[in-house]
Amino acid sequence: RREVPHPWIELESRWGAHNYHPLPVVIARGEGVYVWDDQGRRYLDMLSAYSAVSHGHAHPRLVRALERQARKLAVTSRAVHNDRLPVLLKRLCEVFGFDRALPVNTGLEAVETALKAARRWAYRVKGVPVDQAEIIAARGNFHGRSIAILGLSSEPDYRDGFGPFPPGCVLVPYGDAQALERAITPRTAAFLVEPVQGEGGIIVPPEGYLAQCAEICRRHRVLLICDEVQTGLGRTGRLLACQHEGVQPDGVVLGKALGGGLLPVSAFLAREEVMQVFTPGSHGSTFGGNPLAAAVALEALEVMLEERFAERAQTLGARFLSGLRSIDSPLIRAVRGRGLMIGVEIDPARVNARALCQDLLARGILTLDTHGSVLRFAPPLVIDAERIDWAVARIREAFEQRGC
Ligand code: PMP
Repeated sequence: RREVPHPWIELESRWGAHNYHPLPVVIARGEGVYVWDDQGRRYLDMLSAYSAVSHGHAHPRLVRALERQARKLAVTSRAVHNDRLPVLLKRLCEVFGFDRALPVNTGLEAVETALKAARRWAYRVKGVPVDQAEIIAARGNFHGRSIAILGLSSEPDYRDGFGPFPPGCVLVPYGDAQALERAITPRTAAFLVEPVQGEGGIIVPPEGYLAQCAEICRRHRVLLICDEVQTGLGRTGRLLACQHEGVQPDGVVLGKALGGGLLPVSAFLAREEVMQVFTPGSHGSTFGGNPLAAAVALEALEVMLEERFAERAQTLGARFLSGLRSIDSPLIRAVRGRGLMIGVEIDPARVNARALCQDLLARGILTLDTHGSVLRFAPPLVIDAERIDWAVARIREAFEQRGC
């Protein structure tokens, strides 16, 4: 731990808005599963920028794709066509099984895109009276922090002081399909859900939940939209986490790892009937679908498939989970997760989550807690068994050191 003030941290604190509370470390370089701080100390990256760096840092194929395209053409806007975006759209639809795709930049934007699509679909296809559409979401969700999306949040910390929020937002308990069915009205446009809640604390719903939700949505003519910004692209052991239950939603939101850990790239993928609600001018973004982003995302998809991210996450995730479950500590309340999206819930009354993260940092592991009670472990999917075992040993030591 640093005693002396750090120049970069001081500078950021002086000139930046204090909208984050980072660990006191300055990361200066990354390669594969490792990052190095400005003092040259190496850390195993178990956070992966909240699952955005599934390909590992500076993946050579992605860096090459980025460089090649940057020299050729980076940004045009959608005022004209380019030769990378159409290929990406086709590939996205083929790989994930949808009819059409709409590219934007960040996860939040892609969620907004999905919400806009769902509302228009409700008016133009389902016949809901205009401006009356309702969207249902699950408590504990995280879909981003725009004002519209915060309307669906149950988290006071995110919402406090930022209202008023848009009407038509309905919340149900996560993991309770019957509650979803009870909340549906003739005005319901969509149910927006994370197949595993990420920021909410790595919450895995009961088995069969998503399949039941899909059945209920179909029966009531409500769109099922899965937010796979964090769970998608192999993270949980399938290309999409909803595939664990054989569910094909009406729409899916992708982001984070789609940019290969290099760029912000996101997309909303949907069935024809949903996507056709967008007409020229009704939605878009200057940078959405730019050739640089498209070239990198295309390569990111190919790397994901060729390097078998889903299978790796499945096998290594099981190994990681059983390793973590073998740690016998009174500080641990639960170990849960799917694939390489894992949470260790600690007892915040007995140990400070931040302090544990600092201990792990001192032992060469970079990660952060969510809500002060769940340590998150989501390494790049290019990690191997040896490094998983190494991490389990360091995590065990950190818990042993804290004793009790
Ligand atoms: N949806 C989910 C499930 C997320 O985890 C996140 C980010 N943590 C977002 C949406 C928002 O993505 P972004 O930060 O890229 O806007």
